[in-house]
Amino acid sequence: MDKKSFWEQILTKLFSSANKQHILTFFNNSIIVGVSDGVLTLGFPVIFSKEFIRERYHLKLLQLAQEGDASIRDVQYEIVPALADQDHPDKIDMTKFKDAMGESPSVRKVPNKMEVIVDGTMRSKMMKYHLNNFMPGSNNRLVHAACTAVAAKPGDIYNPLYLYGQVGLGKTHLLQATGNEILRNHPNKRVIYMTAEKFINEIIDAIGKRHTKPFKDNYRNVDCLIVDDIQFFANKATSEQEFFHTFNELYDAGKQIIMSADRPPRDLDGLDDRLRSRFAMGMVIEVCLPDFETRVAILQRKAQEYGEMIAPEILEFIAYNVTSSVREMIGILINAIALAKLEQTNPTIRSVADAIKKLNKVDNLVGYNMDDINKRAVRTLDDIIDLVAGYYKIPRSDLIGEQRCKEIMFPRQICMYLIREILDQSYEAIGENFGGRNHTTILHSCNKIVAQMKVDERLVRDVNALKREMGV
Ligand code: ADP
Ligand code: MG
Repeated sequence: MDKKSFWEQILTKLFSSANKQHILTFFNNSIIVGVSDGVLTLGFPVIFSKEFIRERYHLKLLQLAQEGDASIRDVQYEIVPALADQDHPDKIDMTKFKDAMGESPSVRKVPNKMEVIVDGTMRSKMMKYHLNNFMPGSNNRLVHAACTAVAAKPGDIYNPLYLYGQVGLGKTHLLQATGNEILRNHPNKRVIYMTAEKFINEIIDAIGKRHTKPFKDNYRNVDCLIVDDIQFFANKATSEQEFFHTFNELYDAGKQIIMSADRPPRDLDGLDDRLRSRFAMGMVIEVCLPDFETRVAILQRKAQEYGEMIAPEILEFIAYNVTSSVREMIGILINAIALAKLEQTNPTIRSVADAIKKLNKVDNLVGYNMDDINKRAVRTLDDIIDLVAGYYKIPRSDLIGEQRCKEIMFPRQICMYLIREILDQSYEAIGENFGGRNHTTILHSCNKIVAQMKVDERLVRDVNALKREMGV
C-alpha cells in the first residue's frame, strides 16, 4: 500500500472513534513522511498540530498503524513547514471527513468555472490566491503593480516577469494570483501554472516513455506559462534545455512567461548563461519582507479569515518578533488560534511567545518580559522534584522519602524518570537525591515508566503535562 492510502486508512479508522473536529483541525495537511526500520514518521505543517497529536493520539496512532503494518514499532512526528500551503502528493483529501461531519455543501468552495489549465493538484490552490488579497505595503508595491499590469495585458509588457526572494515571502501567492487575474480579465486564454519540479518530473516521465511530443505540445500551446521556483532547474541539463526551448517558442510568439526563484537570475548557479540572460530580459523584481504595519494587516486579515478577533497587541507582538517570513508569521498566528479554540481561551502574549520560542527562531522577544518566559524553564533536579510533588499534591519529603504505598511510589518513579530524561543525570546521582537509593533501583524505576508509557495513555498525558510545565 502506498503512503497516502495507508494514511487515509489510518485516519478513516481514527475518524470513526476520535473527536472529529480534532481530526479535521489537527490532521489537516498531514502526511506520512515514510516508514523505515519499523518507525512510522508523520509530517505536520505546524508545530502545534504536531505537539497536540503526539500528546493526545500517540498510542491510538501506533495501534492503528500496527493494524495495517505489524512491523511498525513506533510513531515519530516531524514538522514539514511546506505542507502549510503547498500541495503535496501525499496529502489526503479531507472533504470526505468534512462531508461526514455534515458540513453544508454551500459552505464548500464552488469550483471556478474558468478554464484553468493547471496540473490537477494545484487546481484548488490556485483559486485561493488573488492579487487583491496580497498586501503590497510599501516594500512590494512595484511587484504588485507589475503583476497587475501583466494580468491586464499578458505578453505585452514585462515579459518575462521574474520574481525572486526568500521563501515564505509571497512569490507563489503572486504567481498564482497573476494567473487567476489573467483568466479573470481574459477568460479564453490558456494559463498554466506549475512548479519547476513538476516540469522536471514530467519531462523525465515523457523521456522515459519515449514520447515527448504531447508534453511539448501542452506547454508550447499556452498564452501564459507560469513556472515557480526555477532554481530547481540548476544542474538538470535535460530539463533546463527543454525549458529553454519552451521559453523561446513562447517568447517569440509573444506569449507571457512568469517565473519565480529564490535568487536573481545572475545568481542561478548551475544554469546555462543563455538562459540566465533570457530570464533577465524582461522585468526582474525582488519580493521583500513587508514592513511592520503591513505585517500586522496581513495577520489581521488572516485572523478574520479564521473568524477570530485577536487583540491588536498580540498581532503586533507576532509581527514584531517573527521577521523570518510571512509564512512563519502566519503559522504562529494559526497555532495561537488553534490552541485558544481548543482550550476555549483567548491567545495571550505568553502563549504566542511560547510558540515562537518553540520555533527557535527568535532569541530576544521584544515587548515581553523574558524573565517571565524563562521562569518556567527547569534547571535543577530540585525544580523537578518540586513540580512533580506539586502536580501530584504530595509533600516533597514524601516524594523523596521511604514510603512504599502506590500513591507515592508511582509519582516518585515518574520524578526519577523525568530527572533522568530532562537533566540526563546519572542513576547514582539521582539515587543520592532520593535518600541514597541504589542506582539499580533508579534504573528499574525509569525502565518501568518507559514500559508503562507504551500502554498507559493517562501516564503519557501526565508526563507530557509535567514536561510542558517545565517548559521542555
Ligand atoms: P513563497 O512562494 O515566496 O515561499 P508564498 O507565496 O507561499 O511564499 O507565501 C507564504 C504565505 O504568506 C502565503 O499564505 C501567502 O498568502 C502569505 N503572504 C505572503 N506575503 C503576503 C502579502 N504581502 N499579503 C498577504 N499574504 C501574504
Ligand atoms: Mg513558493
